[in-house]
Amino acid sequence: MENIAYYNGKTGPIEEMTVPMNDRACYFADGVYDAMMTRNHIPLSLDDHLARLYRSAKLIDIEVPMAYEALRALMMELCAKVDSPDAMAYVQVTRGVGMRSHPYSGAGEGGPSLWIFVKPDVLDDMDREYSCITLPDTRYLHCNIKTLNLLPAVLYTQKAVQAGCDEAILHRDGRVTECAHSNVHILKDGVFRTAPCDNLILPGITRAHRIAQCREMGIPVVEEAFTLEDLMDADEVIFTSASALCCRVTTIDGKRVGGKDFELFDRIRQAAKREIIEEAGE
Ligand code: PLP
Repeated sequence: MENIAYYNGKTGPIEEMTVPMNDRACYFADGVYDAMMTRNHIPLSLDDHLARLYRSAKLIDIEVPMAYEALRALMMELCAKVDSPDAMAYVQVTRGVGMRSHPYSGAGEGGPSLWIFVKPDVLDDMDREYSCITLPDTRYLHCNIKTLNLLPAVLYTQKAVQAGCDEAILHRDGRVTECAHSNVHILKDGVFRTAPCDNLILPGITRAHRIAQCREMGIPVVEEAFTLEDLMDADEVIFTSASALCCRVTTIDGKRVGGKDFELFDRIRQAAKREIIEEAGE
């Protein structure tokens, strides 16, 4: 199949799948999701992404309506059914279907809904240079939960696109948090610096993998808040996500940044490339 969608046991092409209007996703974005890339039909870091999905669901009091092993097997099965070996695998759990009403006790009597889709997609090119804009981070204070409340991310990304850029780097009063849909890190004096995992950022799976690899390679890691000034003055600026495993930013708000420690960036990038080959083959 070119692509595939799953909703509470039904499967079919994404374009033909319909869902009940009263799914609380429609009125409240009342749910959580996770997304990963596949290579050779293998969903990369599947266990990490599923573990975060269950964690996110728990944090908003939703029970994932399928046991871990069964969901894992279903994801693998759906990824195998899509023709393209390179794809994006997306999984979402919403509180369920019920007449619109803010309190959720009594809403969604049939239980939470499970949504999955797999569609052809490719990893971002790690060999190109990326440009970003900076924007004030006006999101709420639950950024650590991967919820469906993505309107700010949509607006930030649109602004970046309109500025001819790839991503928006967000800050709260000058403190850099993360990007619209990725985490941002800097290299300075041989150290990998990144914002700490508090409620202001999503604990990125890719972020965790890059940190683990840096530590294995003896590259010091500091998980502390850094500022816009630190960002502009960094030796290198990197963003990471499930689709952007290690991408180098060379322009921010139209100014050239980084470019002072390509060697260290390249060590981290090569480690990221090795990791996917180890997991999913060439
Ligand atoms: N931060 C935000 C706001 C995101 O939406 C994402 C990914 O969707 C990330 C960071 C990166 O997380 P991951 O590496 O798990 O894809």
